[in-house]
Amino acid sequence: ATSIPQMLAHEGTAYSFEFFPPKDDASEAVLWESIRRIERIRPSFVSVTYGAGGSTRDRTVRITGRIARETTLVPMAHLTCVGSSVSELRQIIGEYAAAGISNVLALRGDPAGGLDAEWVAHPEGLDHADALVSLVRSLGRFTVGVAAFPDKHPESKTLEEDAEALVRKADAGAEFAITQMVTDVDAYLRLRDMVVARGRELPIVPGLMPVTRYGQLQRMTALNGQPLADEVTRRLEAVKDDVDAVRAEGIAIATEHAARLRDEGAPGIHFITMNRSTATLEVFDNLH
Ligand code: FAD
Repeated sequence: ATSIPQMLAHEGTAYSFEFFPPKDDASEAVLWESIRRIERIRPSFVSVTYGAGGSTRDRTVRITGRIARETTLVPMAHLTCVGSSVSELRQIIGEYAAAGISNVLALRGDPAGGLDAEWVAHPEGLDHADALVSLVRSLGRFTVGVAAFPDKHPESKTLEEDAEALVRKADAGAEFAITQMVTDVDAYLRLRDMVVARGRELPIVPGLMPVTRYGQLQRMTALNGQPLADEVTRRLEAVKDDVDAVRAEGIAIATEHAARLRDEGAPGIHFITMNRSTATLEVFDNLH
């Protein structure tokens, strides 16, 4: 099987899709329907997130393992340092290996108290994602990816700090990065150039999520602590009273961003699906 870094190096634009572990059987059925539809377009890989505070540990292992066993997809499991000692992290990484998962997105995670709280590491845990990259790499033949923040991580004072964090993660053994949702393509290009200027060949895949409902705008800013680009907010606000127009505009914006990112040489596009396939597949179709 080809590894994710190889796909990013050789596939032109490698398309990937992100899911989260569902809470109940009904949502799990919806997720599997989406996974099956996405499987048909043969994406490069798919990923499953790890809930805040490690809350979905068992479900992340189960869903990602099932994708590995029952589909033709290449799965990647996210993992965070939040609330786990190093020995617990070793155990989870062992569970990933046993479930046939060899790709891990190594993250620090957000503070347990939410975005406004201060980050405090578990007393026997890890302080930053670079240490988790080293741990995962030390435990077997894993391919490790990391997070990147073109709009600046809320705890970083400058974008330079984020570029330095990426360099540290690359030096620890990360082979690719995926960004938070990109709403400003220039911001993505800026961060990419800063990493190149530091002499690292770390492929950085932009994350993309079509906004399909006006209410998502505020929720996303609150969840990510990330401002959406003014132009995106303005375009969606202009049609906010018309649900169909919001959806169409959200898909148009995501399509324009994806096309420009592809033209600028982004190694892939990572679609955040919210476990539904319709909107992201529409953007994917528009691109082809
Ligand atoms: P780090 O790389 O540790 O960076 C955090 C902050 O510390 C930054 O300001 C950085 O500049 C600084 N820093 C980094 N290294 C050092 C160091 N060695 N010394 C001092 N300062 C340092 N969260 C989840 O809970 N589950 C998920 O599944 C999940 N998936 C994600 C997927 C993507 C693509 C992205 C972009 C984010 C995801 N997140 C997820 C959110 C992420 O966990 C948070 O944004 C978190 O606050 C930062 O994680 P990180 O891995 O970038 O941390």
